[in-house]
Amino acid sequence: MNDTIAAISTALGVGAISIVRLSGPDAIKIANKIFDKDLTNQKTHTITYGYIKDNDKVIDEVLLTVMRAPKTFTTEDTVEINCHGGIATTRKVLELLIKNGCRIAERGEFTKRAFLNGRIDLVEAEAIKELVNTKNDQARQIAIENLKGETSNKIKKLRNELRKIISNIEVNIDYPEYLDIEVMTTNKIKESIVDIESELDKIIENSKNSRILKEGIRTVIIGRPNVGKSSILNKFSGYNKAIVTDIPGTTRDIVEEEINLDGITLNLIDTAGIREADNIVEQIGVEKSIEQIDKADLIILVLNNNEELTKEDLDLLESVKDKTSIIVINKNDLKNNLDITKINNKNIVYTDTKSDNGIDTLKAKIKELFNIGKINYNEFVYVSSLEQLNKLQEAKESMENIKIGLEKEEPIDIIEIDIKNIWNILGEITGESYTEELLDNLFSDFCVGK
Ligand code: GDP
Repeated sequence: MNDTIAAISTALGVGAISIVRLSGPDAIKIANKIFDKDLTNQKTHTITYGYIKDNDKVIDEVLLTVMRAPKTFTTEDTVEINCHGGIATTRKVLELLIKNGCRIAERGEFTKRAFLNGRIDLVEAEAIKELVNTKNDQARQIAIENLKGETSNKIKKLRNELRKIISNIEVNIDYPEYLDIEVMTTNKIKESIVDIESELDKIIENSKNSRILKEGIRTVIIGRPNVGKSSILNKFSGYNKAIVTDIPGTTRDIVEEEINLDGITLNLIDTAGIREADNIVEQIGVEKSIEQIDKADLIILVLNNNEELTKEDLDLLESVKDKTSIIVINKNDLKNNLDITKINNKNIVYTDTKSDNGIDTLKAKIKELFNIGKINYNEFVYVSSLEQLNKLQEAKESMENIKIGLEKEEPIDIIEIDIKNIWNILGEITGESYTEELLDNLFSDFCVGK
């Protein structure tokens, strides 16, 4: 990291201002070569007004910020040039910097330097990426908490507790004669491990929920034709997007609707009525429906209160039994002909779309199933990338091994292997034991200039 890098840090396009950023040992010296004022003794964290010049030619009128190491994002000398927006000017300024000794930054290289110089850890690096890409307010709130170091601190604390257990075990093994050192009995390990496991579980659950916060609950409405799926969808979204008719099989394709449920997005998908399709158009819809069910976070299965359960209904009930599902018994205004004792699902809601009855209960049920409203954003400790989540799951497997080992009263040095493994995995998550390959993968997902 002896070279000085430069990149355009704002989105490339027409705008009032663009920022070109430089970082590295020669950042100030190189900026000085193309700026009309002398920056040599410029105080840190100050802004200077002036002109960017290519020899005698004026390129742009700018505001230039000088930030000296180590109190900068990368911990290196950093210069930010606020140019006039527009592709031609910004590129020209970058070109000049390159001509004067900068190298074009790779994707995510500023953040990579911040990590390598110890300014942030990998969890915080992921949080930056997430914050930049966030689309809704919930996702923004949890990402900023992550960036403040909530998750990193929690993981470091867990790691520290594991380290204490490991060193205690090693001292017990190597120096059995030291009586003043606590002897790590299986009971003592068990106690500490239970606490660490429940913390890990919480992070894993939050990490899974964070996807739902970010992307919404993928909800699929299924049921035989004419049971009232489109009517329910319309009640949710407030206007007639899905086509409602009396002819079975009219919802041929998939209707997708994004609705807001107390700040959480519900991506509602109304599928074609699942039944033995007898024409091609409907067949396509049916195939798409089955595909959607597999990918869904929540399935709403609609049944008709006015009709007896058919074989198709029973098949559908069977197909959703292992998924997060709600059974909606619609047309509750009509005579009851459906035998509810045949439904083996604890989430049942009665609706009647002619008068709105039950729609609020249905919304409340969804909130209950996904803990919406109970999320405490200030204590939302989670990891944002799938790789990190997979690592946590790996740690969880080692945790299971430890518990089995303790149960079987295996020797403590065998149990220690899994404890060390969890300690290592947690280190990989924060980047305390990183590999080059991991770093390259992570930072290449960033935009240039980050
Ligand atoms: P889908 O094929 O499952 O999407 O069903 P639709 O929403 O198109 O509804 C089929 C028919 O049932 C329409 O004529 C609706 O007006 C009617 N319908 C829907 N919900 C109710 C309800 O709760 N009560 C009554 N009586 N009719 C309903």
